[in-house]
Amino acid sequence: MSRMTLLMVVLSCLSFPAAGASQSIAQWQPDSHQLELEPFTRYWVDERGDADLEKALELTPQQWQEASSNSISHGYVNEPYWFRLRIHNSSEEPSSPYLQIGYPILNHIELYQVADGQVVNEWHLGNKLPFHERPFDHRHFVVPLTLDPGKTISLYLRVETDSSMQLPLTLWTPEAFQAYEQKDMLLQGVYYGIALAMVLYHCFVFFAVRERTFLYYVGYIAAAPLFVATLGGLSYQYVWPQAAWWNDQLMMMFLNGLVLFGTLFTLRFLSITNRNHPLIYRGLRTIVVVAALMVAAALFVPFGQIILPSILLAFIACCTMLIVGIVRLYYRDPAARYYTLAWFFMLFGGIMLALNKFALVPNNLFTANAVQVGSALGVILLSIAIADRLNKEKQTAFEAQQMALREEKKARQAQAETLKVQEEANTQLEQRVQERTEALEAANSKLLEFSATDALTGLKNRHHFEERLPACCADAFRHQHPLSLLVLDIDHFKGFNDTYGHLVGDECLKMVAQLMTDVVSRPQDLVARFGGEEFVIILPDTDEAGALSVAERIRKKVETTPFRISHGAVQVTLSIGVASRIPENPDMGETLFEAADQALYRAKGAGRNRVISHSQNGDVESAGLRSHEA
Ligand code: GH3
Ligand code: MG
Ligand code: MG
Repeated sequence: MSRMTLLMVVLSCLSFPAAGASQSIAQWQPDSHQLELEPFTRYWVDERGDADLEKALELTPQQWQEASSNSISHGYVNEPYWFRLRIHNSSEEPSSPYLQIGYPILNHIELYQVADGQVVNEWHLGNKLPFHERPFDHRHFVVPLTLDPGKTISLYLRVETDSSMQLPLTLWTPEAFQAYEQKDMLLQGVYYGIALAMVLYHCFVFFAVRERTFLYYVGYIAAAPLFVATLGGLSYQYVWPQAAWWNDQLMMMFLNGLVLFGTLFTLRFLSITNRNHPLIYRGLRTIVVVAALMVAAALFVPFGQIILPSILLAFIACCTMLIVGIVRLYYRDPAARYYTLAWFFMLFGGIMLALNKFALVPNNLFTANAVQVGSALGVILLSIAIADRLNKEKQTAFEAQQMALREEKKARQAQAETLKVQEEANTQLEQRVQERTEALEAANSKLLEFSATDALTGLKNRHHFEERLPACCADAFRHQHPLSLLVLDIDHFKGFNDTYGHLVGDECLKMVAQLMTDVVSRPQDLVARFGGEEFVIILPDTDEAGALSVAERIRKKVETTPFRISHGAVQVTLSIGVASRIPENPDMGETLFEAADQALYRAKGAGRNRVISHSQNGDVESAGLRSHEA
């Protein structure tokens, strides 16, 4: 609606046209479709409250007062009012128009149709009577009249009510009434449709989001159409047609509920707290408490006593909330923009209704529907405001989430880097440990090597031999292979030393060792220095014949190899004892050694420089030993 149109509408509401005030008889023309009867209606206040129709008929024309405006609206009054109007059917046809009293919360209406001083027809109406007693099934009070051609009828109405004394009277042809009804119901449908959609939508939002603002908002936008529907007579017609008493009481509950939820919603929606606006907060809390008390009071306090405080509270609440909106606007709360505009609409509707009820503005289509229009616009605006806020909150949440994600990513990167550094350190450490271990192992094996080696000859030493012999024995026993052992001793070496000195003797030992290793070539064979000028040779997997052959070759090689000294060459010989057998048990190394040693002993005894095998029966002569003379 443009500002200009709005202004014109307001001005038309506030002006007090009295065009028909001077006329006294309403003319129902042949082409009439609709006739507003208020300008033709006079009233009389029954101060004592006991007047009946007879008394009303006796009143002088001077006692019947003219209305001060085109609409009948006397505000909240205690006395019953009498109204009188006359209708003339100026056509030549009889007519059956509808008389509509468009204010459905009037408590008691007595309507008399009088012709020639006689009551032709009478109706008892009002919302304190069960709905089904109405002559016409309609949310307003509708009465079918009969107008004879060229005749005038008089109507007398007695109205007594707790609600505002309003009497919007309209005469309709049935067709025009039907057409108007269709349009009106369509508009009502739009209003209640919007309200229902909003309520359901925000209900769903509340259940999805669990944010109390939505609950209050639902309470607020549910209370508004309920109040309007009760005020407009729709709920009495469709929801509780039997409960006449409840009608007014529920209306008060809805009105105060509207204030209650509206205020609660405001508190939350505009984030009013004791800290940011202590004064406003306390004011709104007071309104909340009073409204809650009024909701409860509406259950038992009679309508006539609660209506004025309720309207006053609603008015104060409307003004306060508008002020709150403006204050929040001043503090640049983005939610306050929509909110204030919404409240402007609703306040306008509310003020119009209040002014209308107190008879300060005339009752017409606009003032009668100002609340609907204002609240529908307000509700839509507030929905936009809530959506706006939701959107902003979502945006904020999204940004916070993005930020959190970024932080998390950073943290994860840092963690990955730390892990990498740690892994590198671990790898380095492992590498170093590996290197150290290898070095240690090398040192160890060298040490072992040293501990197993004879320093002079470079052969394996006695210690190593004593370790190897049992192992070789066990191995030969497992595979049942022959094992041979040679014990060798250089002949007359003492004399050699005495003659050429120990150093030369050492050289000689080295040479003999070299000669032995030259002959013993298999990798599994072991040549060792047993001590002094004595040597041992283990020959695994070698039978007696093989061992004798090896021994013989050594003996021959030493015998035929001259040991060079400074002035010529010396011949060295050695004696060899051989023992060979397939072991009967795994630890017969010692036995084997003793056998070989005995054989050596015999070789020495037999003249040296020879090989003698230890026969199996131990008998030297009969063992078939072979001797080789030097
Ligand atoms: P036989 O033929 O009976 O074996 O006479 P032999 O003189 O060799 O007697 P025996 O085995 O008793 O003497 C061993 C000698 O070997 C004693 C020592 O002079 C000499 N000898 C022992 N060990 C070494 C050594 O490491 N170096 C040198 N140069 N001589 C050694
Ligand atoms: Mg010896
Ligand atoms: Mg010797």
